[in-house]
Amino acid sequence: MPTIGIDLGTTNSCMAVFRNGRAEIIANDLGNRVTPSYVSFTGNERLVGEAAKEEATEYFKNTLYQIKRLIGRTYDDPSVQADMKLWGFTVINDDNKPKISVVHDHKRNVFRPEQISAMVLEKMKIAAEAFLGETVTDAVITVPAYFNHAQRKATRDAGLIAGLNVIGMINEPTAAAVAYGLDRQSDSERNVLIFDLGGGTFDVTIVKIKGRKFDVKATGGDTHLGGEDFDNILVKYFVSEFKQQRGEDISENKRALNRLRVACEAAKRKLSSSTNAKVQVDALQGGHDFRSSISQAKFENLNHSFFERVLDTVKNTLSDSGLKKENIDDVVLVGGSTRIPKIQAMLEKYFDNMKLKRTINPDEAVACGAAVYASSLGFVKDPALEEFALEDVIPLSIGIKSHGGKMSFAIPRNTKIPTKVRKTRSTVADNQERMGIKIYEGERALIKDNHFLDEFTISGIPPAPRTKGEVEVLLEINACGILHVEAIEKITGNSSEITIARDKGRLSENEIKRMVQEAEKFRERDQELKQRCNARNALENYAYTVKEGVDQKNLTRQQRESIMSKVTEILQWLDINKTEPPEMSELEEKKRELEEISQ
Ligand code: ADP
Ligand code: MG
Repeated sequence: MPTIGIDLGTTNSCMAVFRNGRAEIIANDLGNRVTPSYVSFTGNERLVGEAAKEEATEYFKNTLYQIKRLIGRTYDDPSVQADMKLWGFTVINDDNKPKISVVHDHKRNVFRPEQISAMVLEKMKIAAEAFLGETVTDAVITVPAYFNHAQRKATRDAGLIAGLNVIGMINEPTAAAVAYGLDRQSDSERNVLIFDLGGGTFDVTIVKIKGRKFDVKATGGDTHLGGEDFDNILVKYFVSEFKQQRGEDISENKRALNRLRVACEAAKRKLSSSTNAKVQVDALQGGHDFRSSISQAKFENLNHSFFERVLDTVKNTLSDSGLKKENIDDVVLVGGSTRIPKIQAMLEKYFDNMKLKRTINPDEAVACGAAVYASSLGFVKDPALEEFALEDVIPLSIGIKSHGGKMSFAIPRNTKIPTKVRKTRSTVADNQERMGIKIYEGERALIKDNHFLDEFTISGIPPAPRTKGEVEVLLEINACGILHVEAIEKITGNSSEITIARDKGRLSENEIKRMVQEAEKFRERDQELKQRCNARNALENYAYTVKEGVDQKNLTRQQRESIMSKVTEILQWLDINKTEPPEMSELEEKKRELEEISQ
């Protein structure tokens, strides 16, 4: 059974398989190499990919996109609050978990972001099966390097809901480095900086590549920075321009905002190859057309602070890696937004006019690297992957809460995994019998600014004056990035407790099971709908065949008339039921009627 690599992007998803010694992109059912990460509930149908994206302006309330910006986040996250205002669909608050509410098939449906991502993944799975002619369950899914524990866990859950067996996860820039390294086929050691700027996220990763050995030195990034932010800036700019032109405010009109956003994204892409782009939307609001344009210089000026942030991250990651910019041999561009000339110019200038590497496809490299990694985890080793080795790092520091709400750092960011660290915690009161261990993720000095992972208590500490009772905490991260924490009381040694950081507020096993069943239901409905569509089309064909056959047969006028009247009746009936195919039983009944009369 093949294992595939899936790049589940904010904007676009892409997948690949490693076979015959190379990574091969798997095209979707339309023959496209990338699939928009869109899901739309239109009429009684659920659409995914291109078909869903086409509904974005018409059925804006039911067309879901950028779901990766919600995954693993809480409702009160400022970025969620800001994004919601611009989206056409509705995000609701359920115990501080963001959920998406859509009215579909006369019912209100509420989804977790994981479920929507699962629908995209399932679409990919089905396309892969069609492409490979085999069942596909094992997959590697990619995540932005800078994703935290909750975001990784949620992505993995999405895979499970889609019916995939997630055999591993790989950081997107690391995957791109693998694709780049294998493509180059050079044995000399090189320090490569991967610059991955997509639609929703930004990552910088520095990797030492030697032959087929990939050794990640440092990673940095921003899980909320990408092409969609540049679009949003343009939208804001033109909303105020429209207000000036027409005195109309569209900032609450989601349909208008959505249509403007589509025009802005197109203009932004145009600005990557020309110095000016038109932005035009007919009847934007109140019957008023919107006509404007934007220059490349203005676009760069509007996004200046974003571009600066990008460069700062490059500098910080370099400094974390312990390398100087002179030590970087190649800068490799990945992600759709690296086509922006200003971004390229900034990087070229910073790296002293180095030629940026554009030899790998920026839209496909991540999926290709994921496929290589997936293959390397499989049972059958491809000779082309002999000696393949990958060492990655953790993107965020792990720490324990210490006295006064301070973060006591245990495993610093950019530590190589797998890793094991021991920390000693002392009691803070005389004869303290129990000690709570709280684990956090993040870089800030106070735990309240970091991200809570899990907690547990160790009891049975023998009586001792304050600071004299001691507990040893063992933190261990395995190669998949999963954290285990264990606390051992030093004197008795036996009163230890083990826990796995499981991240509060995420999906439990049972919830995942329930969502898998829900996904199953959707799958069945889709299948049933497809069956009805096929039967409808078959009946239509049959009616036309009968109609054409009437002239060739030796029939009485009366026979001919009765057949023709049945044919006309059926064709009219099918025409009325064009958008929603009739039930199978009705279709079968009509078919029988036609068969009887024509025989
Ligand atoms: P993700 O991995 O986040 O899904 P992609 O790498 O597919 O994202 O990049 C998608 C982003 O790239 C979108 O915001 C899109 O507008 C942007 N993009 C694509 N082509 C261009 C271009 N020629 N110029 C500027 N931006 C582009
Ligand atoms: Mg990407």
